[in-house]
Amino acid sequence: MTTSESQTPILNTLGGGFGISLGGAQTEAAETASPADASDAPVRDIVIVGSGPAGYTAAVYAARAGLKPVVIAGSLDAGGALMTTTEVENFPGFPEGIMGPDLMGNMQEQAERFGAEILFEDATGVELAGEIKTIRTESGDVFRAKAVIIATGSAYRKLGVDGEERLSGKGVSWCATCDGFFFKDKDIFVVGGGDSAVEEATFLTRFGKSVTLLHRRDALRASKIMAKRAEDDPKLQIRWNTQVVGIEGDNELSHLVLEDTVTGERETVPADGLFEAIGHLPRSDLFKGQIDIDDEGYILCEGRTTHTSLEGVFACGDVVDHRYRQAITAAGSGCSAALDAEKYLATLE
Ligand code: NAP
Repeated sequence: MTTSESQTPILNTLGGGFGISLGGAQTEAAETASPADASDAPVRDIVIVGSGPAGYTAAVYAARAGLKPVVIAGSLDAGGALMTTTEVENFPGFPEGIMGPDLMGNMQEQAERFGAEILFEDATGVELAGEIKTIRTESGDVFRAKAVIIATGSAYRKLGVDGEERLSGKGVSWCATCDGFFFKDKDIFVVGGGDSAVEEATFLTRFGKSVTLLHRRDALRASKIMAKRAEDDPKLQIRWNTQVVGIEGDNELSHLVLEDTVTGERETVPADGLFEAIGHLPRSDLFKGQIDIDDEGYILCEGRTTHTSLEGVFACGDVVDHRYRQAITAAGSGCSAALDAEKYLATLE
């Protein structure tokens, strides 16, 4: 496929992102699955749902503790958000930086080395109440476990404006490393003002004829070092106080409708690509109604522990964390979840 052909069909859009897919169809499947098929499944110590830095770190610790964890790692997005990141410069231990997918590959390998079993499919249903928990996967596998660690991360936030759904994958994307190549010599826009937007925009300057970062305020939220890098980058334009209010095009993106957030003035500009990097939403849908979740969808844990509102169910990483949302903090909380689960299992003996 040539570059010019590529815009319409290819984009890896759907904002999977962190951990595993928890789409509506899957939730429906979970609701209709019969609990009876679980009865023959052996009872394991731990099942970990999700596979970013939190899930894999939990797996390393649980496996080293001899608990033989199963990791339901996700089908399309195993490894989580770092799989679609370029260089990670702030994960301690890598003075020269490391590519996101390499870091996740290392974590996976490390977990497997100690005996973790990793399945690349999505969890589609869970029954978390009671001493024995049940987890179902898209292929129909059923797992039973005494403890469950939830590490499902978060998914890309969407703008929610006209044209976004229709043109997603047709010029609208959430992943520069996946799709940037298809925008060689094109006019590219990135929306957002955080580290992700800056990182995506900087990466896209390798491909685009022009790259414009659209931010709704007049100062970036990104960390100082990344903000400065973006502001000093001659290949990157930043358009302040601007929000996207419309995404237009017949079969592929052709124009964006931009609004000045100060004056309210609107302008329609030609655009070949729009990359959205406006944050994330916790992926907790699968667990709603079974454990306590706050109004924004984050799983609630007791104090500084990883204990959820149900005994034997632990949560870690971005599905819990409002505040820090770093690979290293996710990894740290994955460690905590494994230690909490290990202690809980000891009380059952
Ligand atoms: P974020 O920090 O939450 O930033 C989201 C950005 O999107 C904000 O600038 C926000 O604007 C903007 N935004 C939100 N909703 C919007 C809307 N509807 N329309 C227009 N703009 C909207 O998210 P993130 O950049 O994905 O970063 C998440 C976390 O990961 C952060 O802790 C970040 O430090 C970390 N991270 C680190 C690295 C790195 O160190 N290499 C890379 C990526 C991410 P306002 O500023 O006006 O709120």
